[in-house]
Amino acid sequence: MSDLLDLNAVEARRALDEKSISAVELAKTYLAAAEETSGLNNYVELTADHALAMAAESDKRIAEGTAGLLEGLPIGVKDLFCTKEVNSTACSRILKGFKPPYESTVTSNLWAAGGVMLGKLNCDEFAMGSANETSAYGPAISPWKGIDNVDLVPGGSSGGSASAVAARSALMATGTDTGGSIRQPAAFCGVVGLKPTYGRCSRWGIVAFASSLDQAGPFTRTVADNALMMTAMASHDLKDSTSTQTPLQDLIGAIGDGVKGMKIGVPREYVMDGMDGEVVKLWEQGQVWLRDAGAELVDVSLPHTKYALPAYYIIAPAEASSNLARYDGVRFGMRVEADTLDGMYEATRAAGFGEEVQRRIMIGTYVLSAGYYDAYYLKAQKVRRLIKDDFDTAFQSVDAMLTPATPSAAFPVGRKIDDPVTNYLNDVFTVPANLAGLPGISVPGGLTSDGLPLGLQVVGRAFDEASIYRVAAVLEDAAGFTQTPARMAFGGSA
Ligand code: GLN
Repeated sequence: MSDLLDLNAVEARRALDEKSISAVELAKTYLAAAEETSGLNNYVELTADHALAMAAESDKRIAEGTAGLLEGLPIGVKDLFCTKEVNSTACSRILKGFKPPYESTVTSNLWAAGGVMLGKLNCDEFAMGSANETSAYGPAISPWKGIDNVDLVPGGSSGGSASAVAARSALMATGTDTGGSIRQPAAFCGVVGLKPTYGRCSRWGIVAFASSLDQAGPFTRTVADNALMMTAMASHDLKDSTSTQTPLQDLIGAIGDGVKGMKIGVPREYVMDGMDGEVVKLWEQGQVWLRDAGAELVDVSLPHTKYALPAYYIIAPAEASSNLARYDGVRFGMRVEADTLDGMYEATRAAGFGEEVQRRIMIGTYVLSAGYYDAYYLKAQKVRRLIKDDFDTAFQSVDAMLTPATPSAAFPVGRKIDDPVTNYLNDVFTVPANLAGLPGISVPGGLTSDGLPLGLQVVGRAFDEASIYRVAAVLEDAAGFTQTPARMAFGGSA
């Protein structure tokens, strides 16, 4: 493997500016790495022509001295983002062959900053899942290996993104997070993933799952890289009425500010039955790291935490059932012909949607139906408000909170696929931040005794991503997490 792959984004930017490497060379190296690790199935399509053309433009701008923030950096894009004239399928059969005539705002922002598109990354179908096993393209696999070299899930739904950044076949990647889909796979794969505050990134051009929860965010190797990418991704966008006008803080400057004098909450309800002992140990270690760095640790209570997952699994399917009504065989992607119009709808949707998506549509339709709306949907919305109130109260006395990112490390491919409820439990620590619209990050904290990454989550106040990055940078420093997956296992050199 080339040393170029060892450069993180900040280092690569410097090397590009110093002209010790070129953007074309970097793009070629990443494309080759993606080919070499194709067994991980983390890309659903490589866009080599785009990558090389964009990289050549980057080299020109660097030579002219007009380089952007991400100039020349190779980026993988979750297949949930619409990319102009490039297949954008949300990893669903129903969108097979869909090439949007437009580009999502987030990816437009990345390209405007000089980013280079490597290709489209695998994910759970319509971002529904937490193991990347519901994809129409088959599962993406983690570059980390389990005991006896068993294949592990990279987490989901942005599993391809996390796997590619961990496997070094993308320097950075986009993800989306509706209930944990950035933070959980980041934790499983030992990379950094941020879900920004709801409204921070435009949702325009991102295939909708649950619109009141969906948010795009960056996957990177380091916290500083993450702040860099986030700075380029975020924007106010007239095409998304929920996108914020609150100015973005200086995220890059926040790295290195330290946590001296900060108050960090430790929510007592996050100690849960069935939690892996190693996860608890890492969480305690994280508290020690922050205390040693000068923060004050504060016990806080989020009393409605236990209702977060049930409320999420009513609200998210309800919104999904409505958002997915548009896939009817008329407007996008595939069509299965039948004798009548209704028959065509039915046949198309039966063939086009996978099992998990059909399950969500049925749950969503049920909880929104007359007679059940008040009992389920409205009740869940009330619970959502109580969860937000819990956070508002706690944030009166703390600046950020520290929690585990996931209840366990990654598990073998296939283990939980037939047990949806067990799969839903993966998001127990991440879902509350989505319901409350708050930003959260997952930072690698260490390895389990089996050698698998575990993440720590930092949750912040709305629109205060800077505090999250301050805390995350301290955790990253203290953890000194430099381990990379066993590349040998999938054909690369160590
Ligand atoms: N695992 C959760 C779900 O399946 C969250 C997915 C996501 O954040 N997109 O709904």
